[in-house]
Amino acid sequence: MRFSRRLDHLPPYLFVEISRRISAKRAQGADVISFGIGDPDLPTPAHIVDALISAARVPANHRYPETDGLPSLRRAIAHWYEARFGVSLDPDKEVLPLIGAKEGIGHAGLAFLDPGDVALVPDPAYPVYAVGTMFAGATPYYLPLREESGFLPDLRSIPPEVCRRAKVLWLNYPNNPTGATADLGFLEEAVAFCKRWDMLLLYDNCYSEVTYDGYRPPSILQVPGAKEVAVEFHSLSKTYNMTGWRIGMAVGNPSAIHALFEVKSNLDSGIPQAIQEMAIAALTGPQGYLAQRNAIYQRRRDRLVGVLRQIGLSLTPPRASLYLWARVPAGYTSGEFATMLLEEKDIVVTPGRGYGVEGEGFIRLSLTLSDEDLERAVRRLEGWRIPPRGQ
Ligand SMILES: *Cc1c(COP(=O)(O)O)cnc(C)c1O
Repeated sequence: MRFSRRLDHLPPYLFVEISRRISAKRAQGADVISFGIGDPDLPTPAHIVDALISAARVPANHRYPETDGLPSLRRAIAHWYEARFGVSLDPDKEVLPLIGAKEGIGHAGLAFLDPGDVALVPDPAYPVYAVGTMFAGATPYYLPLREESGFLPDLRSIPPEVCRRAKVLWLNYPNNPTGATADLGFLEEAVAFCKRWDMLLLYDNCYSEVTYDGYRPPSILQVPGAKEVAVEFHSLSKTYNMTGWRIGMAVGNPSAIHALFEVKSNLDSGIPQAIQEMAIAALTGPQGYLAQRNAIYQRRRDRLVGVLRQIGLSLTPPRASLYLWARVPAGYTSGEFATMLLEEKDIVVTPGRGYGVEGEGFIRLSLTLSDEDLERAVRRLEGWRIPPRGQ
């Protein structure tokens, strides 16, 4: 039997390969410590879980949800955007709940791209932008994110013939995997670029609430006129430690939101309503928890940056996101260095190459492991002399 060709050209999903290697090591009895996946180790706050428990007992929540979610959820999202970013949204036309941001990002290609179209996709990047593009039969045109440019793409260097063909631009700040951030000035430039070339700007802002040193990332919708060309993807996953519950949202340009709704209404039946009630509790409840949680990540960041620099890796401490992006020592590829760390120290990191060609030369370390595991990993690394390579 022959299955779809679109599956033939997929890169192996990065985290599947990492999980496989960890299991193999553990099967040999190794005590593996993983900095691999960005999945919060801390639990969902209790008041949010309580909302699920109460909502689970309500029979109305046992039936099919609507694709576009409960009106009360769309209103809670709009209020949160107003309070957090000063951005006003029409809850019925400019807000669409998602079964996690990944679902909306993956389906965006079906709403916005035709076979033969081009999507501008950063490299390195969260893999779903490119995969969603390819599933729609379109082609990614990769924008290199380089350290010397603060991991921002150089929009002016994109050839005009590519700009003419491209229908969407994907951007993600605070960034996974590089931990880079973008200021409002860059976002203004991106909005102007998309207006000039009649492109849709798809902005992934999943990490806006995972921040350090008092930094407050902007929303793309803070740029005046952004709603004419932009949709922002957001998620409850990283903000409220809710990765397991699967809920996020797309907000912004009403025609684009409607197009994504049309795709989704033909493929899914929305988010279980009890989980929507969790999101309402999260967005409208006390937010003090975020600062405490960020302080925990910030301590981990500082601890890890210290030991990585001590063993000779070079990196900039991120102001936001869950990730450290460190340059590997000369002579190693990112894959070789990650494999060596696993073999020598039973420590898992993600090779940067897994996020794109431009990720070569870097590894990514996620801060989502317990303080105890982090300390044990730090002790394994302290004083380590990395074996030289390449002679
Ligand atoms: C984690 C992550 C997502 C996915 O969020 P979900 O809401 O859990 O699907 C989207 N974009 C980026 C960049 C991420 O790192």
